[in-house]
Amino acid sequence: MSLLHDIPPQQSPVPTLTPASPSSIRLVAAVVRGQRVAVECPPWCVVDHAAQDLAYLDDLSHDGEVATLPVRQFDGSVEQILTTHLTQWPFADNGEAYISVDADGSGECNAYHGAAGLAFADQLVAHAERIRRLVHVLN
Ligand SMILES: [Zn+2]
Repeated sequence: MSLLHDIPPQQSPVPTLTPASPSSIRLVAAVVRGQRVAVECPPWCVVDHAAQDLAYLDDLSHDGEVATLPVRQFDGSVEQILTTHLTQWPFADNGEAYISVDADGSGECNAYHGAAGLAFADQLVAHAERIRRLVHVLN
């Protein structure tokens, strides 16, 4: 019997991202009030901008692949937590890309910019190490 039988399968592969070079930005079609416009789109974006009809250009966001952590609940259901992806609202406020994290599946996301994303990742690694120590206590 596998030791991993209680751990739900990871639904999202760990994305391998490399920093974008300016030449890797591509022009794609977006639709705003029925009008096609060309927008720059980063290589990590998975949005089909032509499939949306936005009210305002400010509503356009670039979003990367989503990674989640599946956690089995008491009733056997699986909750997706720590839903994380890259996002950018290029025509709103500062337009800077950041890591978006929905901690509990509520749809409310927190933004991690720059080093804050690394600090958050370090916290997750530390949490995983605490879980590993608990497993070793049992074995
Ligand atoms: Zn995009």
